[in-house]
Amino acid sequence: MGQKMNSRLTLPRFAIFINESICMRNIKFKSPDDNQTQFATAVRKNVDQYFRETGISPKGDWTLRLKAFSMLAMYIAPFVLILTLPMSAWFAMLLFIIMGIGTAGVGMGVMHDAIHGSYSRQAWENTLMGSSMYLLGSHVFVWFVQHNVMHHTYTNIEGLDGDIGPRGPLRLSEHAPLKKMHRYQHWYAFPLYGLMSISKLVRDFSQLSEYNKAGITKAQRRSPGMEWVKLVSFKAIYLLAMIGLPLMLTNFNIWQILAGFFIMHWVTGVILATIFQLAHVVEGAEQPLELSNGLIENDWMVHELQTTANFARNQHLLNWYVGGLNFQIEHHLFPHVSHIHYPKIAPIVERTALEFGYNYNMKLTFMGALVSHVRRLKELGNMDPAMVVLVPSNSKAVEVA
Ligand SMILES: [Zn+2]
Repeated sequence: MGQKMNSRLTLPRFAIFINESICMRNIKFKSPDDNQTQFATAVRKNVDQYFRETGISPKGDWTLRLKAFSMLAMYIAPFVLILTLPMSAWFAMLLFIIMGIGTAGVGMGVMHDAIHGSYSRQAWENTLMGSSMYLLGSHVFVWFVQHNVMHHTYTNIEGLDGDIGPRGPLRLSEHAPLKKMHRYQHWYAFPLYGLMSISKLVRDFSQLSEYNKAGITKAQRRSPGMEWVKLVSFKAIYLLAMIGLPLMLTNFNIWQILAGFFIMHWVTGVILATIFQLAHVVEGAEQPLELSNGLIENDWMVHELQTTANFARNQHLLNWYVGGLNFQIEHHLFPHVSHIHYPKIAPIVERTALEFGYNYNMKLTFMGALVSHVRRLKELGNMDPAMVVLVPSNSKAVEVA
């Protein structure tokens, strides 16, 4: 391969800084087990070898650009129709639903790769396509810290990975306090997932404030003031475009427009949250805690393997739409590799994991993963944290049916 693949994780300085300033937890990954270190070296070498032998770049290619065009079109074209053609409110709602599906597609298949720097070999193209986050009403820098830094470094660790943090009446971590209502969460979780996207519109404010106060923004060589200016301006432009334009150019009243806007976000939220949950909140995806000295007794690569799951590896259309997020094991081990390569490197990763005696957590179908997620929600809704048996974090995972 033409360029050295940047697959090796070095804990970023600001991540440690986050531990000290926000969480007062300084987590380190270190395993006394040589097998783990050897696995990490072998899986990097094997995947590296695939790219070297085939001579292809680990970044995106024209197929990814075609996908970006399709997803952006699915988001923008229905909106242009709403603004320009006379239509019934019901037909407009249908178009808002399609926009919601397109928005989720842009998030998973375009923005996600670009902010990981895997969309293109050109930095400017990653920056440009990463800016599609603004079209979704959210903020690039906040996503970068929340996702690239916290979620990808401290996957499934209570208190650090916000993706399993408390979300209203949902309990996604086995270490979180158990409440009575949680026993019903497998019933009410999915409608609540629909609020994820719209709540992000507001949550960005508190997250940026938190990152600024903790010094993370400056540590990233960004100006806290400028990030505020960007956040407020892009959100104002977004709301003016999404609500102001229909109000000016169509005959729909404000309530119809707000309903369409809400439905679009609800569809996006359900899709995004469900796809994310199928990777980390399913049976067999571990939620380790650090030891009292802040140590996770795992090599980081083994930690990612044991906290993440794949699903529906052979469902090609689904794989295309969800931007490879059904190959989350490969994504977490190699976040700088574009998702278009995951189907090819997955058998290499699986073979290496099995060679070293580690479970490769894969659900064969989307439905299988969905059922596993519902069962896990039910388990989390009934499992008292005091009853959680803490297995040593360096133990090999058991085979999950
Ligand atoms: Zn990611």
